[in-house]
Amino acid sequence: MARIVMKFGGTSLADIRCIRNVLCHVKREVDLGHEVAIVVSAMAGTTNQLVSWTQDIADLYNFREYDVVVSSGEQVTAGLLALMLQAEGMNARSWMGWQIPIVTDSVYGCARIKSIDPSKLLKGFQHGQVAVIAGFQGMSFDGNITTLGRGGSDTSAVAIAAVIKASRCDIYTDVDGVYTTDPRIESKARRLSRVAFEEMLEMASLGAKVLQVRSVELAMVHKVRIFVRSSFDMGSASARAEGDFVGTLICDEEEIVEQQFVSGIAFAKDEAQISLRRLADKPGVAAAVFASLAEENINVDMIVQNISEHGATTDMTFTVSSSDLERAVNILERSCHKVICDDLQFESGLAKVSVIGIGMRNHAGVAATAFKALSEKGINIRAITTSEIKISILIDNAYTELAVRILHSVYHLDKE
Ligand code: ASP
Ligand code: MG
Repeated sequence: MARIVMKFGGTSLADIRCIRNVLCHVKREVDLGHEVAIVVSAMAGTTNQLVSWTQDIADLYNFREYDVVVSSGEQVTAGLLALMLQAEGMNARSWMGWQIPIVTDSVYGCARIKSIDPSKLLKGFQHGQVAVIAGFQGMSFDGNITTLGRGGSDTSAVAIAAVIKASRCDIYTDVDGVYTTDPRIESKARRLSRVAFEEMLEMASLGAKVLQVRSVELAMVHKVRIFVRSSFDMGSASARAEGDFVGTLICDEEEIVEQQFVSGIAFAKDEAQISLRRLADKPGVAAAVFASLAEENINVDMIVQNISEHGATTDMTFTVSSSDLERAVNILERSCHKVICDDLQFESGLAKVSVIGIGMRNHAGVAATAFKALSEKGINIRAITTSEIKISILIDNAYTELAVRILHSVYHLDKE
């Protein structure tokens, strides 16, 4: 017997027929004698609809009421699934975030979980009760409903798994795992059987939309193993008996015996570049630039600064998302242009393509391979940043697909 969390996404709960399919997955695990906590998303499309209703009423909406509205989709699916499990003769009940409670800060719209009391859920398990938990929602210290940011039910699931000490957190979705790159761009993309937490964190932040980034951070900290699988794969009879399903396990790197030096290619389109030319080379300049952007909640990504030639001035380039470009330029022009730099240049229509792999730590030449492959196709690299397990390259949007395919093949990601 094990204790497990099963999380179902919106497409797995899109209508009553889909929910019936979810019931089969739950029944299988319960019949195996497991203690089961289920975390649900809203039905596919519901949250978007709820968000747009709040926007129709007022542009400057009140975020407290926004959360009251958008959290409601998960209340519906939790109730429906609990009803269906009960109709099958199972002992099950629904839980809203405030009933457990899942306590968060009060940053409406993207609250962070502060604590979860597992005692009521654990008591239910003792009586053979299946918990059906509304994902995405929590309750602030002062008793208001909060939500955890779009895609937040993944984070609910991992957080629940951590506090009830589940041995697995199965994420049921509409794809059968995590791929070496987006299969819509490269048809030879392969499903990875295992991905290290750190790699998944990079992939998720770089645009692989399988999991909310925060859920991966949380899983890494609490060492919650996540199994991403398709809810439409019912498995063969023998696979069902063995609990052997197709999917991707996201786990500690120690569990990955044979480390590939590159495991995936991620990309993010619609980036913009801002360059500050002849910037004073003295303490406090970078702090001033980025503080002014941070104050206005502008996320800065790749930052490249050169070492100045004679210690006088230097150039600095960084990227922001295209949608933030205009605001960022206005802020910089207002606050620091002319005072600390000579010229401010910017351009949108760029893409960031990244090569990711934990094995990179112990392999030389990974970057050289990428640069050579791109140059052979005449793709110009505008900026480069790296971490221990990632190389990110800034290029023109128009070359994104080509670059992804070339990099995918040059590291043999299409081969087992
Ligand atoms: N229903 C919420 C959303 O669409 C949360 C989730 O699905 O994870 O963002
Ligand atoms: Mg999701």
